[in-house]
Amino acid sequence: MYAFTHHSATSIADAVKSVGEGKYLAGGHTLVPTMKQRLAMPGNIVDLNKVAELKGVSDNGGVLTVKAMTRHYEVENSPVVQKAIPGLAKLAGGIGDPQVRHRGTMGGSVANNDPAADYPAAVLALNATIVTDRRRIAADDYFKGLFTTALEDSELITAIEFPHADSFSYAKFRNPASLYAMVGVAIAKKGGAVRVAVTGAGSDGVFRWKEAEDKLAANFTAAALDGLAVSPSRVNGDLHGSAEYRAHLIGVMAKRAMGA
Ligand SMILES: Cc1cc2nc3c(=O)[nH]c(=O)nc-3n(C[C@H](O)[C@H](O)[C@H](O)COP(=O)(O)OP(=O)(O)OC[C@H]3O[C@@H](n4cnc5c(N)ncnc54)[C@H](O)[C@@H]3O)c2cc1C
Repeated sequence: MYAFTHHSATSIADAVKSVGEGKYLAGGHTLVPTMKQRLAMPGNIVDLNKVAELKGVSDNGGVLTVKAMTRHYEVENSPVVQKAIPGLAKLAGGIGDPQVRHRGTMGGSVANNDPAADYPAAVLALNATIVTDRRRIAADDYFKGLFTTALEDSELITAIEFPHADSFSYAKFRNPASLYAMVGVAIAKKGGAVRVAVTGAGSDGVFRWKEAEDKLAANFTAAALDGLAVSPSRVNGDLHGSAEYRAHLIGVMAKRAMGA
């Protein structure tokens, strides 16, 4: 590791004031290995772990709010999350392994926007709002590509707001080595509207599968997806699986998310 300055922030205002051209440290599960490999070399680290106002979950009966420094383990086990959006608690319980879930944070995951991460699919399917120190960003305007988001330099995610849905489910085919999604499909229904978000596969990261949304809005059953396929041309292939394999998996995971 190279030399850098470390500031343990005590409040949101302190964190934003202190970061300059540096980076926020949440769980460190992505940032620290990136620094060790010199893929990023920020000279200033602002640690969010002692910022109490960035922790916890709450629900107002219509919107579930998860603050940025809430660990995956807390999302998984929170009675508030389990009652408001049980599928989100289940999704959190499928992230990595217990060590990862006790350290990784929702804010870190959503800021990082790894193309194989699980939360981006939930954020997009549930039409969540990303709340930052300076504005509110709709999910449809937030994800901009691989590891790329609408966040500006030094912009801090403070919370994610998830509107309740009539139903929300997520099915993931795990890479057995990394535990990330080879493909994950999240499906949310609210009234007559259905949103389907796919992670792990898109060449531009998480994306909405509009054709599946239309089919499910007309007929909310797994059978409605029969014969529907994503073109491999918009899907990533790598040493873990070809584009054709992942494209096929999207259909399979979508049906599993529908309970098939
Ligand atoms: C072995 C392993 C397995 C994993 N498996 C999975 C998996 O199955 N599914 C999955 O989804 N993820 C998985 N992860 C990812 C992990 O769960 C974390 O979500 C991820 O590493 C980032 O979260 P973090 O809190 O550690 O963020 P950090 O590593 O601390 O930060 C990541 C990036 O986000 C920025 N950042 C952090 N917080 C904020 C904020 N509040 N506002 C703005 N920017 C911020 C940082 O500056 C940095 O650039 C895995 C990780 C490991 C190491």
